[in-house]
Amino acid sequence: MYGTGISVQGPPARDDLFAADPMARLGSLEALAAAVDACRKCPLGHTRLHSVPGEGDARARLACVGEAPGATEDETGRPFVGRAGKLLEDILRSIKLTREEVFICNVLKCRPPENRTPEPLEVAACSPYLHRQLELIRPKVILALGKPAATTLLATNASLGDLRGKIHRYRGIPLVVTYHPAALLRNPHWKGATWDDVRIARRLLDDETA
Ligand code: SF4
Ligand code: URA
Repeated sequence: MYGTGISVQGPPARDDLFAADPMARLGSLEALAAAVDACRKCPLGHTRLHSVPGEGDARARLACVGEAPGATEDETGRPFVGRAGKLLEDILRSIKLTREEVFICNVLKCRPPENRTPEPLEVAACSPYLHRQLELIRPKVILALGKPAATTLLATNASLGDLRGKIHRYRGIPLVVTYHPAALLRNPHWKGATWDDVRIARRLLDDETA
């Protein structure tokens, strides 16, 4: 009866499943924020003051994704609270939304020194948190603010010019790309185009409830 050499394996234990995808362990936005705060997966975890996981309605219909925390965000631990944040609030108001009604986060959860552009290795280390946040929130529409958000979520190298003004899909969710508010502060003449882009997002939200 013994020693047949046949071993029957059951399903993998829960811990093994989590080992395959550590993000699956993060069952809530709060748990994810705590993991981000403890994270040192890239060098930015050592230079930042505060982590900035993101904030807003856990059941938001619109998720706004920026690039990375800046100085004010690093000081406060909150996303989009500096000048770019005020402009993002204006943009949201133009489509009848407040920041409390949406979810706001970034590709990187820690500030790059001198606000430099995220490095590919930093994006690779950090983006699983963003993907997990979107999986937990399951927004109806995603607004990608600027090139790092757009190219990370859509896994493309296309230019912002090519990505704007269209409806993309992220894991089945409609995604609209527009300029980053910080870029708008430097180039106010892009505002008209931005307002056009976010009207696409508004229409998608309205269609969804129709
Ligand atoms: Fe971790 Fe992201 Fe911060 Fe890097 S930027 S330490 S990956 S949370
Ligand atoms: N710029 C970003 O991309 N994110 C912030 O949170 C603030 C400024």
